[in-house]
Amino acid sequence: MLVEKLLLNVLIILLPIFIHGVLFDNKSVGKSPYLCGILQSLALFLSLAFSYELGGLYWDLRYVPLVVAFLYGGPIAGGMVLFTYLATRTFMGGDLLLGYASGFLAALFPFLFMKSFWTFDAKKRVRTAVIVGFWPSLSMLIILITNTFLSNAAASEDSNKVLMNITIFGVIQIFSVWVAAFLNEALIEKDLMKKEILRAEKLNTLGELAASIAHEIRNPLTVVKGFLQMMHKQEKGDNFYYLSLVLTELGRAESIINDYLNFAKPQFEKLEDAELAEIITEVTILLEAFAAKEGVQVNVKLEWGVFAKADRNQLKQALVNIIKNAIEATEEGGEVFVSQASAGPESYVIVSDTGKGMDQEQLARLGTLFYTTKDKGTGLGTSVSMKIIEAMGGSIAFKSDLGVGTEATIILPTYNKDAAGADPLQGNEAM
Ligand code: ADP
Ligand code: MG
Repeated sequence: MLVEKLLLNVLIILLPIFIHGVLFDNKSVGKSPYLCGILQSLALFLSLAFSYELGGLYWDLRYVPLVVAFLYGGPIAGGMVLFTYLATRTFMGGDLLLGYASGFLAALFPFLFMKSFWTFDAKKRVRTAVIVGFWPSLSMLIILITNTFLSNAAASEDSNKVLMNITIFGVIQIFSVWVAAFLNEALIEKDLMKKEILRAEKLNTLGELAASIAHEIRNPLTVVKGFLQMMHKQEKGDNFYYLSLVLTELGRAESIINDYLNFAKPQFEKLEDAELAEIITEVTILLEAFAAKEGVQVNVKLEWGVFAKADRNQLKQALVNIIKNAIEATEEGGEVFVSQASAGPESYVIVSDTGKGMDQEQLARLGTLFYTTKDKGTGLGTSVSMKIIEAMGGSIAFKSDLGVGTEATIILPTYNKDAAGADPLQGNEAM
């Protein structure tokens, strides 16, 4: 039976993937051409060995390993499989010229697609593999079928059967290429995930190490700063100027270390009922001078009576970082809007500006440690804010258009003290 033989072939086609996934777990699919070449050659050899002869035609899935090897393994793997095909075909005998020609024709398509293949995403790669994998065997089939039809056109019953077989063959062929590509992608995905987990673990240890070093550096720095401040008061002339510079830079170093430590481990010292409107007011007063210096108008719209369980200083720090960014992004004469609204157990603080905005790439990098586009920036502000808000059980979302402006929405769990019988939200475990 054709179907049974073809299903056996499907199994053979999937063999390399299973062997790779189970035995060679540590080698990534796209980066081990020799392994891919050997495994796919094996599959092609078995596929040829178990091909099904019917009406003078050989029905098998020989082109699938060829396509998969070229697309997923590259030219070396593809070459190995093509060589295996030619060798086996020579050994099998028969119409060699047609055999060689079909082999090269089948290899041509994946060879052409090979380069652009890895620039696609996973879904498009699977689609490409299906199209590339189906085409050579389809073209070969057309040649062979016309041959058969021409030679015994009279036997219509036979041709019906051939037609049905072609349909079955086509379906199974598409199916097997799709499954092979899909499983390959699953292997790749698994590999990426494993690497990502390893990387995250490394980063975590590194982060802890850096935090402890930062902590150790802060103490001597404080002592140095203290003595320098004393000297600063007594000095005059050049030395006074130099010491002023030293002190500003020391202050900068100190604030970077503090920000970093804050990021590594936000310290919530005292949790209390904090009225959001009050905190926002305090923050905007704090930033008033800075905004005036930058020539930016800060407009505030508040809603009183909404409370959050928070460490006031931390929450203020988070808001300062975001609003300061908005002011810095805005041109002189521009405006920054801070508004607050609540819905049920959540409150939104929306900070929007009419500044320079960010493109998709910048937006994606926002919040990664040390990402900054400013000369004197630290790239810590947004990360710290995000960490603090997340530790409070909230989140921050950014929307931005290049040249138009940015909108940061801070979502915080809150409760309304005025609402009768309202249950104050319990603090988040992270706090
Ligand atoms: P820093 O302010 O020290 O550069 P941040 O983490 O606060 O570090 O911000 C990182 C970067 O994100 C900034 O350098 C800036 O390019 C971009 N950014 C943040 N907020 C805004 C905003 N409101 N508008 C435009 N760009 C912004
Ligand atoms: Mg900033």
